[in-house]
Amino acid sequence: MPEYEAIIGLETHIQLNTTTKIFCSCKADSWEDPPNTNICPVCTGLPGVLPVLNQAVVEKAVLLAAAMHAEVQPLSYFDRKNYFYPDLPKGYQISQYDMPLARGGYLDLPMPAGYTRQVTIHKLHIEEDAGKTKHEHGQRLIDFNRCGVPLVEMVTGPDLRSADEAAQYIIRLRQLLRWLDISEADMEKGHLRCDANVSIRPKGADYLNPKTEIKNVNSIVSVRDAIQTEIERQIRQVEAGNRIEAWTLEWDEAEGLLRKMRSKENLADYRYFHEPDLLPVRIDAAWREAIFVDLPELPLERRARFTRQYGLPEYDADILTGERSLSDYFEGAVQAYGGDPKRVSNWLMNDVLRMINERGLLAGDLRLVPAYLAEIIKLVDAGTINISTGKSLLENVESTGRAPAEIVQAEGLARVSDEDALRVISAGVLAENPEQVASYKAGKVTLIGWFVGQVMKKSQGKADPQLARTILEQLITKSES
Ligand SMILES: [Zn+2]
Repeated sequence: MPEYEAIIGLETHIQLNTTTKIFCSCKADSWEDPPNTNICPVCTGLPGVLPVLNQAVVEKAVLLAAAMHAEVQPLSYFDRKNYFYPDLPKGYQISQYDMPLARGGYLDLPMPAGYTRQVTIHKLHIEEDAGKTKHEHGQRLIDFNRCGVPLVEMVTGPDLRSADEAAQYIIRLRQLLRWLDISEADMEKGHLRCDANVSIRPKGADYLNPKTEIKNVNSIVSVRDAIQTEIERQIRQVEAGNRIEAWTLEWDEAEGLLRKMRSKENLADYRYFHEPDLLPVRIDAAWREAIFVDLPELPLERRARFTRQYGLPEYDADILTGERSLSDYFEGAVQAYGGDPKRVSNWLMNDVLRMINERGLLAGDLRLVPAYLAEIIKLVDAGTINISTGKSLLENVESTGRAPAEIVQAEGLARVSDEDALRVISAGVLAENPEQVASYKAGKVTLIGWFVGQVMKKSQGKADPQLARTILEQLITKSES
């Protein structure tokens, strides 16, 4: 049996997080709103209305194009894509066709196995979304809220070679969209939608076989599972001597199987023509530069810099740049701390990250600001508090918003290393336990650990155990003479 490789291309639709729709002032995000409440004559396509382009849509799409290393076109056009469907009230969708907003581009995918897969995109364009159709009790219900919601469409080249690589593309794309703050990129809410084209060929071959298209994969796990299932199906078909037919398949997430939707029809004739109601989009150098001012250091660049500049392991750098707010937080804390960045990373990844996840916050929303985290680590470094006090201090600062040093002082959390205070506690422990003192003197010297334990208990864990041990030994020896 020959070895096969998969050829996978992904088509993604990204909902931009603008306040209003692409061609009218209706609210763009209707996730929690009742059907047909965010609509107007423009987005429902009533006669006599004219669309007005939302500038923020262009700017967010240009940011994405730049981050994808695509070339932003100085001139692009909107086109009418004509087709009839009940949730498309105008009878056409305003999209871009032969003169899209940006061309070319790629995204690098560092794979967990250690290699990097470069995924190309041919073009990037903006368009309006259609409405939603729902079948209920034998009726077809239509919600126009989604009509006119701004989308970016990007189609990758046939560059992906496994289900894992496809999943990784979606993971990195989602990270990038959130990093740029241009989309919530929540697959469950349809902010990031993905269709996959899948074919197989003997490994090393350079021709393409007929492909199938998988629709409606709405989570990263589904992307991976659906594609893997389809690769295995195609291999079984070919091994059995059958031909792969160009089907359109639908992934049933609950059942974990693919259903045939239809045999792929010939390329539909959408009768594209330039949209006469909208001017072409002209992006001159000045506007482009003004948009690029908002282009941040990208996640993979920052990840590389974190290993280089701070000497972090790749594992740490990857987690700390998983989300922009977290990576900003890390850098703020490193700056405030001034010591070993790996120490900050450990505190962040072990304790602060758990707090962020439990509370469903972004790092930037914490009341435990980077300077406070740095302060806590310094208090531990200086021996003012022990590590377990330091960890409980994280929660305390987060719930009260007070400065760590202030809490330490107000609640008397400082480690008891004051000799006089420890001497008093130690003397008390010895006086209360004459039998153990006698055993110790009779030669059971291992009891010293038990005495230290008692001192720790009485000091509520704040005693310096080393110092307590020295004082206890002194006190017992003194009582012997
Ligand atoms: Zn509207």
